[in-house]
Parts: sequence; structure tokens; C-alpha cells
Amino acid sequence: MTERFTGNFTQQEPIPEDGIAAAMEVLRHGRLHRYNVAEGETSHTALLEQEFAALMGSKYALAVASGGYAIATALRAIGVGPGDRVLTNAFTLAPVPGAIASVGGVPVFVEVTEALTIDLDDLAAKVAAPDAPKVLLLSHMRGHICDMDWLMEITNAAGVTVIEDCAHTMGARWNGTLSGRHGVMAAYSTQTYKHANSGEGGLLISDDPDLMARAIVLSGSYMLYERHLAGPPPEAFERIKYVTPNISGRMDNLRAAILRPQLAKLDEQCGAWNARYRVVEEGLRNTPGLTLINRPEVEAYVMSSFQFLLLDWAEADVQQVMKKSADRGVELKWFGGAEPTGFTSRYDSWRYAQSPKLPQTDRVLKAVLDLRLPLTFSLEDCAMIGRIIRDEVSTRFQSGA
Ligand SMILES: *Cc1c(COP(=O)(O)O)cnc(C)c1O
Repeated sequence: MTERFTGNFTQQEPIPEDGIAAAMEVLRHGRLHRYNVAEGETSHTALLEQEFAALMGSKYALAVASGGYAIATALRAIGVGPGDRVLTNAFTLAPVPGAIASVGGVPVFVEVTEALTIDLDDLAAKVAAPDAPKVLLLSHMRGHICDMDWLMEITNAAGVTVIEDCAHTMGARWNGTLSGRHGVMAAYSTQTYKHANSGEGGLLISDDPDLMARAIVLSGSYMLYERHLAGPPPEAFERIKYVTPNISGRMDNLRAAILRPQLAKLDEQCGAWNARYRVVEEGLRNTPGLTLINRPEVEAYVMSSFQFLLLDWAEADVQQVMKKSADRGVELKWFGGAEPTGFTSRYDSWRYAQSPKLPQTDRVLKAVLDLRLPLTFSLEDCAMIGRIIRDEVSTRFQSGA
């Protein structure tokens, strides 16, 4: 009996009906631009910002065109400019070093651990070096959260400013604190494969009035910043409005309209993702040759994807597992390939950002396999995915050993 999975790893759920209805209304009235409002009307974008700030418990929120744009805006707002070095995770997605490069900054990669989080010993060493960078763009890649209490101790002691990339941690918590509430600013993505889906989109939060005033003007507010319901008071804008460029990257009312109902049920969605994650995790437990990612008790994760390690396997064997799994309908992505393909690429393929070799990261990247768990998969689907991977990994491990 060879089971074969027939689900589609890139098929997300439909937009909720109330989101579709709100979007249709926007299309019918035609006021898509966030500052194009009728008398007495509040735009969906302004309401989305207000609701997101309330959800995250932040003072301010800004909706923008993409997650990568949100990160770049945060970097600009804190004053990162040409030639400035910015610490970031060596295991992350291309838009993260890309955002640093977009402001002329230079990524300085920090090693990753087998838990897929930033290596705090390497970070401590890097912030203690002479001429250490003064900014950390911390990426909670694929939803894995490092010990945030320890990280903040290290960065506070060194005077390093932290921006959080929460593309995969919207709704997650460390030790009771929502992901994105440790750094001075945090960026989220609402691109199709993240925790809310507007095709493209991003959100930025902060409690700092000066940073948020700059971010709002940077995003292209055309001096209409008083229409931001989740923005700082007018004085904050008065201080910066003549010296802050407009680098347009606004969100529009159509996307905001479809996001609002999704955010309203974020908790429920997070529960549904985690239920799927745990079924795959149980299915893979004690598979010979396969290492599960250890999740600390204080990490309340939200996992819309699944990762595991084939540590110290020969490349040919990893590729064989991928091929055999793909033949049975299970698409695994690998971060160890020398060539960047699809969504996966490695720090050494971002050649605009020269980096010394990071041996610990190289070992982990060669081992990481990754799969999406869209909510269109049932728990039974997830159990089958677990069985197929378990079968292919153990078969290969036994024949290779
Ligand atoms: C998706 C993602 C982003 C931002 O993505 P956009 O496509 O620009 O919205 C940033 N960081 C990580 C880790 C991501 O996965």
C-alpha cells in the first residue's frame, strides 16, 4: 500500500464572505485610495490600522503595500542609511536582507541554531565586537521564536535597537507577550502565504510616536496624516514632516476591506494551524534519522508551515527523500540547495551581501526541510502527510545507514 496525497500545498482558504461583501462595496463606490473618503466616512485602511493596534496592544499601527516594505520603512524610520550594518538572522527569507539592501544598509548575518532561531551566543559576540552594528532586524523565520527575554537583555545592554520581522508570528507569543511587542517596531506581512491574506500587504506597529510619525510620512501620507486613527498626535508630525521623504507604499481600501474580517478571527485561525502542525509533529515523532524542532513551553507559536531536520545526511539522500515524497504528492522544500529556487534561498546566494561562512548555519540549512500547512488541509490530510514523510525518511535512513 503506497499512499499518495492529492492536496494542494499552495491552496489557501477563500476570503470570508463578509470580506468579499466589504470588498464588493469598495469596488462599487470606487474609493479605493485610502485617503479618498466620502463626507463622514472612515476608510477601511484607517479602521484596519486601528483594529490591528488594538489586537497587538500597540499605540500605533500603519498598513502598507507589503511585508518587505514594512520592514524597509521601519529601517528608514530609525535612521538606517547607506553603509550602515544591520544584524539579521542567517536563516530567513530573501525580503529580509532585501529590505536592508533597499535602504543601502549591509546585512550582517548571525548564526542559526538547530531550533531554527537566531544563535544568541553568536549575537552576544557580534554586538560586543568593536564597531558592532547598532540595529538588529530580528526575523522570526517560519514562526520560530528565540528566547526573547534573553535576546532583549543582550541588545539592551549593548544599546542595539531591535526591529522584529513577524511575517510568520502574527498572533504568536513568547512568555505571554505577543510577538512584535519586544522591539521598537514590528513588521507583519499579509501576503497570501502568511496569517492573513490580501494577496500583498504589510503592517507595522510601534509605541514610539516619532518613529511612527516618520513611518507614516515615509509610506506616502501626502500630509493627510490626521486621517490615521492609529497614528501619533499632530505634534509628532510637525517635528519631522519637512525632512521626511514620501516613498509611496500605501495599502488600499480593497485589501484592508478583505483583511478586517480575517483579523477578527485570527485566534481561531491560529488554533486551526496549530492543530494541523501537531498532527504532523505527532506523526513524525521518533522517526529514525529525523530531528523534530524542539518548541519551548513558553513559546505560544502559530505554525502555518512545518519544518524538520535531516541532520548530517548526505545531500543525495535528502534529495532522494524529497523526490520520493514528491512522487507521493508531498512537496518538501529544502534550504540546503546551492541554487536558490522558488521561495528558498540561502545567505550565500544573496551575493550583494558578502558574508563570511557560517558553519553552524550551513549545517542546519543543509538539514532543513519545509512544508506548508494551508487550512484547506484536514487533520486527516496532515496525518497522511506525516505517514508519507515518515515512511520515506525511515526507508532512506535504513538503506543509507
Ligand atoms: C513573507 C516574509 C516577509 C515579507 O514578505 P512580503 O512578501 O514582502 O510581504 C518577511 N520575512 C519573512 C521571514 C517572510 O517569510
